[in-house]
Amino acid sequence: MKKKFVTWTIVLYAIYGLLLGLYFFQWTDIGVPPAYEGTAADPTTFMTEKELELSQEYSRYKNFLSFLGEPLEWIIYLGVMIFGASVVFKNFGKQISRFRIIQIPLFVLLLQTLTTILLFPLDYARRWLSVKYGISTQSFSSWMRDELIGFWIGFIIMALLITVLYFLIKKFEKRWWLIAWVLMIPFLFFMMYLQPVVIDPLYNDFTELQDKQLEEKILALADEADVPADRVYEVNMSEKTNSMNAYVNGIGSNLRIVLWDTTLNRLEENEVLFIMAHEIGHYVMNHLYWNLAGVIVATFFGLYFTYHLLRYATRRWGERLGFTKVSDIASLPMFFLILTMLSFLSSPVELAISRNAETDADQYAIEMTEDPDAAIGSFQELTVNGLSDVHPPALVKYLRYGHPTMMERIHMLESYQGIDVKEE
Ligand SMILES: [Zn+2]
Repeated sequence: MKKKFVTWTIVLYAIYGLLLGLYFFQWTDIGVPPAYEGTAADPTTFMTEKELELSQEYSRYKNFLSFLGEPLEWIIYLGVMIFGASVVFKNFGKQISRFRIIQIPLFVLLLQTLTTILLFPLDYARRWLSVKYGISTQSFSSWMRDELIGFWIGFIIMALLITVLYFLIKKFEKRWWLIAWVLMIPFLFFMMYLQPVVIDPLYNDFTELQDKQLEEKILALADEADVPADRVYEVNMSEKTNSMNAYVNGIGSNLRIVLWDTTLNRLEENEVLFIMAHEIGHYVMNHLYWNLAGVIVATFFGLYFTYHLLRYATRRWGERLGFTKVSDIASLPMFFLILTMLSFLSSPVELAISRNAETDADQYAIEMTEDPDAAIGSFQELTVNGLSDVHPPALVKYLRYGHPTMMERIHMLESYQGIDVKEE
């Protein structure tokens, strides 16, 4: 089985890589369709030739790497089971302690360590590319520090969830997925509540807005939409990147709008206000709560299907892969394999919903600011700074984009301008 697995993995992965290469470097054109040529969405109207060339190159390599990485996690989980690593991990845990409350987190730690090491080259390649094209300005040590923080936070959360889960599986053979789902709901609320005040500050410094003159205008805009002033933060991302961003996160009293300092430093005042209005849009339309509701529904189906698929996989292949019961911790790689595949399958739907919400936020922002020039300018600046592709290939749009493409966003803003002009 091992030899067959290795042979097939190499053959299929090579074909996959080849097809990806052809798709990104031969079959897809970069640039905008003829109908958009010469409009504000056409990068040739706002990028220098050099920037355009760099952005095309960068997008192609970045997309290629991103899609190359897609099946790697699945291959690792399969390999861990087929090569018997999951049995080794389990037995090691049994030698350390006879308590499952120790054995399960230890298994999670070993599996996560192996996965992280195997995926590290790809992670590093992504960073290397970003630094090479002048997007990331983060030093290797600072990047490594972020990676380690991510590793340990991931471990703490995962160890907790998996320990509870495997106790439930042992105790409630048929209903564990439903109980796990019910318990997940308060946990999701709790994590979203903690995110901005406990997790995010581990990576970056969050402060109130530094530029007092700009702050006044931003807060006036927030006030107009009844967003309390203490909800607006600035984060020192300029230490790590040249790209710009802003977002809303947290829930309840921790719900906040965060602007990257790169956005504040590089955009004109009116442009910053448009970005701010977009975030206010998310805030007032309760997108975070809708998002949370979506996650809860998705978790329900995810756990339900995982329950059935895991049972089937255990009956069919369990013995050969080192676990005869679902409650055996050696089945964890199979659990992760199923869950990550399901989440991949559902991602186009999630992303489509997210793109919809982003369009609504853009619409809200343009109606609030009524300044299409600033709005278009901000998106053009965002495109240049991130060397992004205004019109990515379909595969990238449907499998990666939580926002509409810049072509779609700028086009929408330009159309708004059209209507406005006619009314005058
Ligand atoms: Zn948004």
